[in-house]
Amino acid sequence: MIALQPENNTFKTISVQTTYKCQMSCANCYLGDMLNNDKYADIDPDKLNVALKKLPNRCDIRFIGAEPTMNPHLFELVNIARNAGHRPSMLTNGLKLRSLKYALQLKNAGINMLGLSMNGGLEDDMYELLDNSRCAKQKIAALENCFKARIIPHVNFILIPDNAHCLVPLANKMIELAKEYKMSKYPIMLRVKSVGEVGNYLDTYTYRIDEMIGLLRHSFGWFDVNFEVNGYNEKNTCVFKLPNGLLGKITDWTLDDDGIPDSGSKRRGILTDEYEIAPFFEYYSQNEDTKWK
Ligand code: SF4
Repeated sequence: MIALQPENNTFKTISVQTTYKCQMSCANCYLGDMLNNDKYADIDPDKLNVALKKLPNRCDIRFIGAEPTMNPHLFELVNIARNAGHRPSMLTNGLKLRSLKYALQLKNAGINMLGLSMNGGLEDDMYELLDNSRCAKQKIAALENCFKARIIPHVNFILIPDNAHCLVPLANKMIELAKEYKMSKYPIMLRVKSVGEVGNYLDTYTYRIDEMIGLLRHSFGWFDVNFEVNGYNEKNTCVFKLPNGLLGKITDWTLDDDGIPDSGSKRRGILTDEYEIAPFFEYYSQNEDTKWK
């Protein structure tokens, strides 16, 4: 695997591993034994600042984790990304965003868009199955607080046969809240993914991309799909507009012959522990603690 120095970066989206700590223990977690492992330190704000300032182009800086809100310096990190001229966003399980105060602090720090994981839709039973926690109430509160704080939510949903029925009620809730908080014109998105059989994962069915497109067309009605994402031609990801007006994205995490999902991506990079930039999944596949191989 070749890692680039930040000044030679070619990736559009760079994920930053904010912390390896998380307060949840989901059935699907690509980090395997890296999760809550003290061997892996939180990101160093000063080193992040140096690396981001060297990037030659404006990038999407995605704070991920385990759970980025578990890093007490998250607001400072977001500020660093903004001040270096990039677009910060984050992926979260949403538990801390059940506090409106926290959501407003995130907005003030510079987060305008985030990915919120809602694998159970609106149902506790489905969260118990996928995320080992009956947390529907907290997740729905987090979604509503995004709207209240005027942060655009992109809702992430890992699709398995058991939770397919949750998609339409979840999409309806998103639309209802967007209307209530007058954010219908913003690019609010439902992002559906299959199970990636890496790290810890649920022993269930991994949908291929054509199956997920078919399932969503069956649920929502016909829509056209586009495999060009942010100017990149993708084979595992497509974007579309659902007949109800909601934007959508489908990603297929089926593994290739080398056991890697989305190998060779020119779009998804990660800041490594050495503060270099590497292809996202290739990087994790080489760490034995992820248990990918
Ligand atoms: S999938 Fe995300 S929320 Fe779940 S345990 Fe892993 S890091 Fe935490």
